[in-house]
Amino acid sequence: MKASRENESKLYDLCVIGSGPAGIILAMEFAALNPDKFVALVEFGSRNQEGHNHLDDSISINNPVNHYGPYDCTNKGLGGTSRTWGGRCVMFDEIDFVPRPIVNNDCTWSMDLFEEIQQYLPKNSQYFECGSEQFDLDNVANVKKKRIADGFVSGIVTDSRLERWSMPTRFGARYERQLEESANIVLFESCQATQFKMDGEQVIAVELLQVDANRSFELKAKQFSIAAGAQETTRLLLKNTQIFKTLGFVPNALGKYYQSHISGKIASVKFYGDPKKTDFAFQMDDEVYVRRRFQFTTDFLKSKNLLNSAFWLDNPLYHNPEHKNGAMSFMYLAMITPILGKKLAPPAIKHSVTKGKVNGLGKHFWNLLKDFPMSFWIPFSIFYKRYIPKRKLPGVFLYNSQNTYALHFHSEQIPDADNRMYLAEDGNTLKIDYKLLDADVKAIVQLHKELDAYLRSIKCGQLDFWHPDNELEDAVRANSKDGIHQSGTTRIANSADSGVVNNDLKVFGTSNLYICSCSVFPTSGQANPTYFIGAFAVRMAHHLSKLS
Ligand SMILES: Cc1cc2nc3c(=O)[nH]c(=O)nc-3n(C[C@H](O)[C@H](O)[C@H](O)COP(=O)(O)OP(=O)(O)OC[C@H]3O[C@@H](n4cnc5c(N)ncnc54)[C@H](O)[C@@H]3O)c2cc1C
Repeated sequence: MKASRENESKLYDLCVIGSGPAGIILAMEFAALNPDKFVALVEFGSRNQEGHNHLDDSISINNPVNHYGPYDCTNKGLGGTSRTWGGRCVMFDEIDFVPRPIVNNDCTWSMDLFEEIQQYLPKNSQYFECGSEQFDLDNVANVKKKRIADGFVSGIVTDSRLERWSMPTRFGARYERQLEESANIVLFESCQATQFKMDGEQVIAVELLQVDANRSFELKAKQFSIAAGAQETTRLLLKNTQIFKTLGFVPNALGKYYQSHISGKIASVKFYGDPKKTDFAFQMDDEVYVRRRFQFTTDFLKSKNLLNSAFWLDNPLYHNPEHKNGAMSFMYLAMITPILGKKLAPPAIKHSVTKGKVNGLGKHFWNLLKDFPMSFWIPFSIFYKRYIPKRKLPGVFLYNSQNTYALHFHSEQIPDADNRMYLAEDGNTLKIDYKLLDADVKAIVQLHKELDAYLRSIKCGQLDFWHPDNELEDAVRANSKDGIHQSGTTRIANSADSGVVNNDLKVFGTSNLYICSCSVFPTSGQANPTYFIGAFAVRMAHHLSKLS
């Protein structure tokens, strides 16, 4: 139900701050488990918020090469950043829970937690509308059991890990009606949580600033959970260090160990066998799009001390007309067309296609003419599938008769204390320091070489690098841009000496304040994070139900 003045003075059983995927799942699951209890769901943004907002306007990022700007990284308003997310649902791997020298043994969560979380996946998949909770092709009955390429056999490299695709579910649009009609969820929109009021270890109230009316009021609850996305969750804690008064110190890890993903392309893969047998595109598991990727085994990554990474087959660089593909040139030209390009994809996705480059226009137009009419027909049929049906085609991957595909890497990042979020001297601006470490970059180049050696050893294919050996590291550095998958800044640990929240995601030094955000993940793995934080949200709803 919608908020009213009368609802402001209630004592809520649970107050959830932030209505992105994490906050909506937590609120809805808790409300469903406890029909007699009341949940306040507090959201800073307004419905379908456009334009500037004072949160994003007060973020300062030190590295525009490798990190997108604030407005490209998050959205505000009901549904949070799911308003522009891609919908790729990926599972974390065993290796992410193992202390390893490559991540400075700074892995402060455990395999027990990973195993415990599995029970919440089926429910989580329902919220994400991504079908089953199965992320291994070998265990999916409906999908054809072919290999990624002719002659591929699993060894240190596997081809059976899957990404599953959500609608993409826009959590605001998808669940707004259920939230509004709910008898026990009260939705406070255009309200920014600013200050926590403490009684010893207990949060007794949160001050809400009603953004459009410039008035404040206090909301009382028995339990509080911050689900404001990694940046704003971290900023809210940094601005509320009084919550650590009983603890006696502010956890050193707060704001530190910020990670995103290192992601880009520095090589192509050429397969030797029948091009028609290459599984380069999407398959359907029931109604859901799924796609496979290369990943290395846990034992191999451990033995070689390498970062967890995924590799998938991709199209050649769109902006380079040398691909000689009329359909790709058409899509590239559409993306760089000023107003149209903005409508086709959010800035981060658009940039991954255009790389911000406008070049070779003459050659692109020649590609268009040369491949006519397919250069128009293919994009139109793809645009239809991507924008019209309810379940949308998640991406565009084109067949290559030479059996050569660009190889996209998506790698975890080493948790590093100097990659961090902190407050500027004004006590409000959120500063983000972000860089790729040399060890990150070296590991990515090494992983490519291991993949190349493995494919050659099984006589399945090889990698063709796009740069000389001594330029590969610089190419990774110049290529990788993220900041849309944020984790690490309020990490899980066994104590406040090494983290910010415990295994139940309760903030150290408090008795009733929880965090439901990817900021609690101490390692980022290769996985896009949203599906996994959804599982934590379902788990938190169950945990809090037992307490209340
Ligand atoms: C272009 C793009 C593509 C992406 N694609 C994928 C993908 O394919 N797969 C994937 O896993 N992830 C993807 N992501 C990342 C994904 O969107 C986020 O991981 C996810 O939205 C995080 O969910 P959340 O609920 O934790 O936070 P958010 O979705 O960011 O929601 C947080 C909410 O909290 C509100 N809020 C903030 N501060 C306050 C406050 N003080 N008081 C009250 N409310 C507050 C915000 O307004 C916002 O609505 C993508 C992101 C972008 C930008």
